[in-house]
Amino acid sequence: MQYLSTRGEAAEIGFEDAMLAGLAPDGGLYLPRQWPQISLAEFKALRGRPYPEIAEAVISRYSADAIPPERLRAMLNEAYAQFRHPAVAPLKQLDSNLFLLELFHGPTLAFKDVAMQILARMMEFALEKRNIHATIIGATSGDTGSAAIEAFKSSKRASIFILHPHGRVSEVQRRQMTTVDSPSVHNIALEGSFDDCQAIIKTLFGDAGFRDRLRLSGVNSINWARIVAQIVYYVSSALSLGAPDRAVSFCVPTGNFGDIFAGYAAKRMGLPIDRLIIATNINDILDRTLRTGRYDIHKVLPTTSPSMDIQVSSNFERLLFEASGRNGGKVRGMMASLAQSGSFTLDGEILAAIRSEFDSGHADEATVARTIATTLDATGELLDPHSAIGVALAGRSKPDRGPLISLATAHPAKFPDAVEQACGIRPALPARLAYLMSAREKFSILPNDPEAVKSFILARSVS
Ligand SMILES: *Cc1c(COP(=O)(O)O)cnc(C)c1O
Repeated sequence: MQYLSTRGEAAEIGFEDAMLAGLAPDGGLYLPRQWPQISLAEFKALRGRPYPEIAEAVISRYSADAIPPERLRAMLNEAYAQFRHPAVAPLKQLDSNLFLLELFHGPTLAFKDVAMQILARMMEFALEKRNIHATIIGATSGDTGSAAIEAFKSSKRASIFILHPHGRVSEVQRRQMTTVDSPSVHNIALEGSFDDCQAIIKTLFGDAGFRDRLRLSGVNSINWARIVAQIVYYVSSALSLGAPDRAVSFCVPTGNFGDIFAGYAAKRMGLPIDRLIIATNINDILDRTLRTGRYDIHKVLPTTSPSMDIQVSSNFERLLFEASGRNGGKVRGMMASLAQSGSFTLDGEILAAIRSEFDSGHADEATVARTIATTLDATGELLDPHSAIGVALAGRSKPDRGPLISLATAHPAKFPDAVEQACGIRPALPARLAYLMSAREKFSILPNDPEAVKSFILARSVS
């Protein structure tokens, strides 16, 4: 399988190169040249199979040229053995036709673990094969960073530098990153927002000399291999509820659009998905875009769902490419306008194509709190604020056919203050994370300046 860039000006490359590069050299994001297909018979044969087996069936269609099947199987078994639930991503019923897909049973209690645990293993395999080292850099609004650090902490081939917005991630999130004691792990608390962190990462990747010298690699949700790993739970959950014989819909708490784009990819592979619902918090650029046709960056507002507190939603570019009939020129135009003026307008055809598959909505802070309280009351389930946004929007939406699956993207104990305020119950950290709150932290505070970050990394990278 070859991969091409959404901006149409980068050479096609294989899975491993796309994984190691993250961003394409023309500034675009990688997508497969064609969508691999899974037949109805193959879907049916996967029903009731263990999660790693479904993962192998999905991921091998993208990675076959790079990773031999027995290696992939071993990596998947190892990765998903890190999860505290034997089903890896269990489904819970909330209402007659509403289901919660719990994606937070991994080591850092958010759905990012599902992809990161396998990505780290695939990267290590690739780096070993090439006998090289890499410098992984990433920006996090909280959950990506801890999942990445946890997944890469024992890597012999990669050092990892994670930028988080200073003072804007929850204490549990911060401690999950800053208490990992490994010489290859470096935490940078940036004096800025998550979007500032993301912008600096983009700047560093844009500096070809720096990029090549340190062999920079990204693990943010723009990394195609992460999206591939996220396709798996759309498939596993849909199969549990009767797919491919009936269609299901998904409601997805959305920030950078990586998770929900994996749902779109599952659909392109042949999984019968009816609607994909984009659920945002009050940082609602995507909801506004779907309603008005205009993608327009506002200021980021801090909320109780910090992992969705973003305005620039990077993976949306992948959908723009698809919805424009894979027109790299059109995507370049929209992205140039975004860079220049902070906004662009979708042409009518693109907007119609997006609306034909996606719905959207946003939940304000009062709605989030109310949803946590009412869901606890009605079902006994304690939701974290991110997951509550999904459930709130799912409650408003009535897809025509089939069940609706809302994604639970974080464990409530990751956001104990917000959960307690909403419903009076303070969720306890699972026992194996109890050490966090007293462990020693290590991080460096840096100004919002790409040069400062560059010299920090240069002084500490092994590549
Ligand atoms: C990252 C994250 C999201 C948003 O996912 P995207 O792929 O960025 O859209 C939602 N909820 C939680 C808890 C997250 O960590």
